Amino acid sequence: MRTQYNNGDNINLLGNGCDGCNIVMVNGILCHETGCPDEWRDLEIECSECRFEFQPENRDQTICDGCQHPNRIDEADAIQEYNNMLDETNPVLTIGFLEFNPSRVLEELDPIAHHCGFIDWCDSMEYEIE
Ligand SMILES: [Zn+2]
Ligand SMILES: [Zn+2]
Repeated sequence: MRTQYNNGDNINLLGNGCDGCNIVMVNGILCHETGCPDEWRDLEIECSECRFEFQPENRDQTICDGCQHPNRIDEADAIQEYNNMLDETNPVLTIGFLEFNPSRVLEELDPIAHHCGFIDWCDSMEYEIE
């Protein structure tokens, strides 16, 4: 039995599948009764900005999360971008025939400095980390 709507909201009436109606399963698809006040929690709607479908978190949401928070970025992506920036703005370190990327050297030798630099850089880019 499901305990959450598609948008992650909890369903209180356990075993029913919807708090607002007597929901039924038809061919594996959950169908709310007409006029169910909770139906929107299961429906995807089209973002008025980017036209992609998304799952609203509240009833009058008309644009997706990505359009609402254009600076929100996944932490792994942000670190990748930060490392690219370090590598582009610092010379590659060479020892004999070996070459090391500056981002990797900093991360390995001084992870705290790397992390602090990352936080400051996120601020300057106005990124919100997920
Ligand atoms: Zn319903
Ligand atoms: Zn959008």
